[in-house]
Amino acid sequence: MHNRSIAEIAAALDRREVSSEELTRHFLGRIARLDGQLNSFVTVTGEQALSQAREADRRRAAGAAGPLTGIPMAHKDIFCTLGVRTSCGSRMLDPFVAPYDATVVERVAAAGMVTLGKTNMDEFAMGSSSETSFYGPVRNPWDPGRVPGGSSGGSAAAVAARLVPVATGTDTGGSIRQPAALTGLTGLKPTYGRVSRYGMVAFASSLDQGGPFARSAEDAAWLLSAMAGFDPRDSTSLDRPVDDYVGALEAPLDGLRVGLPKEYFGEGLDPRVSAVVEAAVRELEGLGARVREVSLPNSSLAVPVYYVVAPAECSSNLSRYDGVRYGHRCAEPKGLEDLYKRSRSEGFGAEVKRRIMIGTYALSAGYYDAYYLKAQQVRRLIADDFRRAFAEVDVLVGPTSPSTAFRLGEKTSDPVQMYLSDIYTIAVNLAGLPAIALPAGFVDGLPVGLQVIGDYFSEARLLNVGHRYQQLTDWHQRVPPGFE
Ligand code: GLN
Repeated sequence: MHNRSIAEIAAALDRREVSSEELTRHFLGRIARLDGQLNSFVTVTGEQALSQAREADRRRAAGAAGPLTGIPMAHKDIFCTLGVRTSCGSRMLDPFVAPYDATVVERVAAAGMVTLGKTNMDEFAMGSSSETSFYGPVRNPWDPGRVPGGSSGGSAAAVAARLVPVATGTDTGGSIRQPAALTGLTGLKPTYGRVSRYGMVAFASSLDQGGPFARSAEDAAWLLSAMAGFDPRDSTSLDRPVDDYVGALEAPLDGLRVGLPKEYFGEGLDPRVSAVVEAAVRELEGLGARVREVSLPNSSLAVPVYYVVAPAECSSNLSRYDGVRYGHRCAEPKGLEDLYKRSRSEGFGAEVKRRIMIGTYALSAGYYDAYYLKAQQVRRLIADDFRRAFAEVDVLVGPTSPSTAFRLGEKTSDPVQMYLSDIYTIAVNLAGLPAIALPAGFVDGLPVGLQVIGDYFSEARLLNVGHRYQQLTDWHQRVPPGFE
């Protein structure tokens, strides 16, 4: 069951070959048996899952089931879940039980999906390795000595290890695409405003966007269909109909204009990763795509701009954790100042503190113009690069990450090396564009991800490209040894 696609599972449910309750028990059993090696879940909500599953079975028996009714999934622990701890990977929120559901959680539940639990992540989604969690690092099912990428590494590891069919993630600078690439999954970062941020713990509000992790583009299309849509409770949500992602999967790719950004194939890219990407581009040509080189001249500025804008927004967003309202509070505070200081020093980890300090500095009087304002201006130039490129091509194709999964601890002492793992993903968030990571091959037994970037609201096209590519290739069907 755990190697089947969502459509196959749904068909089995329809034929009464299996019930949602049996399916849920099967996946809960895999989590219990196998997650000790991975640490991909922070919280497993077994009882709640089984009662959702029984409800789904009743809906199906009453002839009221939708295509996702009764299918298990998991949420990154950044989405608020009513009555269930929402930790964001932080000691600060370890005691926090959300009093409401995020819109995404609500929608996925309304579609009848069964939530198995909450997945591990870098603290407050800051990181590219899932090593900074208060609950300990997540391990990559392809090699437990290596990271699954981050920050949504728990969702990635869980789906790759077949502990759950699909899961949600969030992507502020690459946190869906990079872990998808490093674990051999399909991961989609939607256009900013396509998926509601209501109830998603805020990191950098102008960049954060939720999206699906799945083994195939087809499964990702199913989950995104449930997640996406206008939400009046999120003022940046776009009031625009959701496309038929599943219906668009089979469209032919004849004449698809593909651009290869020359800046994405330069120094810093592992030549073996580059070779995998080039082979994938030839497959796309075989499907009828017309490929040409394009330029995104401001690409090298994306990481520096991001590391001003994201910390600035995070320093503001995280000021709400003061030990007063909710979250961690220090013991026996000696006054208000002491309460703030010790609650925050104890509650936040090193990377989060580093970002708060950088952001506070960049926003302070005297430095605001030099750093924050300048970064916003360059951000516009980066978005303009994409606008020009999309006047000539339909999609941009390149690597997702410059290397395959690195070893645990390899980059923890050098934040800049860690930041550079998102060199090909960050510009997309700065521009607010959608992009998908697709499994495209292996180097030394470790997955490599292709990245396809589209113009605003081209999610259906990106999933279509992914699906067509996956009909020709079987990289997405490979299973990490030991998790068959
Ligand atoms: N790795 C980037 C960071 O550390 C992006 C994280 C994300 O997308 N949430 O900020």
